[in-house]
Amino acid sequence: MDVLLCAACGHRLTAPVRRLDEIPGPGGRDGLPGPGEARRPPALLPRGRYAVDPLPHGAPFVPAPKDREYDGVVPGGPWRSDARGLLVSAGPRGTYVLHPLDVVALDPHPDVTRHIGCCGPDGERGVNRLCRCGAEVAIAADDCTTAYATRLVPGAVRAVPA
Ligand SMILES: [Zn+2]
Repeated sequence: MDVLLCAACGHRLTAPVRRLDEIPGPGGRDGLPGPGEARRPPALLPRGRYAVDPLPHGAPFVPAPKDREYDGVVPGGPWRSDARGLLVSAGPRGTYVLHPLDVVALDPHPDVTRHIGCCGPDGERGVNRLCRCGAEVAIAADDCTTAYATRLVPGAVRAVPA
């Protein structure tokens, strides 16, 4: 079991959690809603576990390479498009993905545009949660448009044995 700490101040940011080799499938990225979750997608990770996502996540979004075909599974979640054409995530790789209830209360980021989402932040607009010391430590996805999770940002946190 590990706990994740703020790299800047050492504040403990999570409950004791056990690392999984990958983000689980059922109930994960492509899972269907579980019992009691009919109105929203499921949590990406179960309680008491964490996983490292090798794919880039969220903002910034950049134009997709023209020579690449996308099969619908795009790093960082659904692709977007704007005047630049098809965009894909160039956000942080290696985020630590946790169930939100395994992460301590964090402060909201002062940039309100990072909290845009439906009924909560969609987690695709960059770091939106701060440690109590002010360090940018987490990306919370907590609305009905995506599987919910709190991602701790590599470099801003460190994992140590619980
Ligand atoms: Zn801190």
